[in-house]
Amino acid sequence: MPENLQQLLARIHACTHCAPALPHGPRPVLQAQREARLRIIGQAPGRKVHETGIPWNDPSGDRLRDWLGLTREQFYDPRKVAILPMGFCYPGKAESGDLPPRPECTPRWHGRLNPQLPDIRLTLLVGHYAQAYYLGSRRKATLGKTVRAWKEYLPLGYLPLAHPSPRNQPWLAQNPWFEKQLVVELRRLVRTLDL
Ligand code: SF4
Repeated sequence: MPENLQQLLARIHACTHCAPALPHGPRPVLQAQREARLRIIGQAPGRKVHETGIPWNDPSGDRLRDWLGLTREQFYDPRKVAILPMGFCYPGKAESGDLPPRPECTPRWHGRLNPQLPDIRLTLLVGHYAQAYYLGSRRKATLGKTVRAWKEYLPLGYLPLAHPSPRNQPWLAQNPWFEKQLVVELRRLVRTLDL
C-alpha cells in the first residue's frame, strides 16, 4: 500500500540516515499537510531552529514573514504553508556561517513529499541550494541573476528569492529592486492564495 503523508512524516522524523555527519544529531525540522497551498524550500535549520524545533524561528524567519505579509499564526499552519528545507537537520557551523544542507536529504525525501502536496500553487526557492536543485539548468550564472529573472519562473510555479538572513543584508542593500518590485509582487501572489 502506498504511504500517506502522516506515515511519511513519521519516517522523516525518525530518520538517522546521515547522523554521523551531523554534529548535533538528527532533528528534522519541517511542516506539511496535504492542504498546503504555499511551499517554502529553504536551506537547513540553523542552531536556534534546531534547539526549538520550529522552522524559520529566527530573524531570517521574521523577515521572510514580513516579505510574505503573513502572521506567525498563518505561517505556522501546515494546512496553509509547507516548509521543506533542502536539509531537514541542522548541519553544524562552518568557519563562516553554517555548513551547507546535507546533500543526502533532498534526494531521499523531497521526491516522496512533493506528490503528497497536491494543492501547492506557489513554491518559493529561498537561496542557492533550493534554486540549484529545483531549477537545474534553468537557473542563471549567479543567485542574483536568477532572482532578477524571477518572472521567467512564475509560469512553472516557482519564485526564486534571496535569503532573508541578516547576513544577506549587504546584497539586499545593493539590490533595492528586490524589495521594491519582487517583494511587492510576492505579497500580492500570497494574498491570492487566501491563506
Ligand atoms: S538531514 Fe535529512 S537525511 Fe540526514 S538525518 Fe536529517 S532527515 Fe535524515
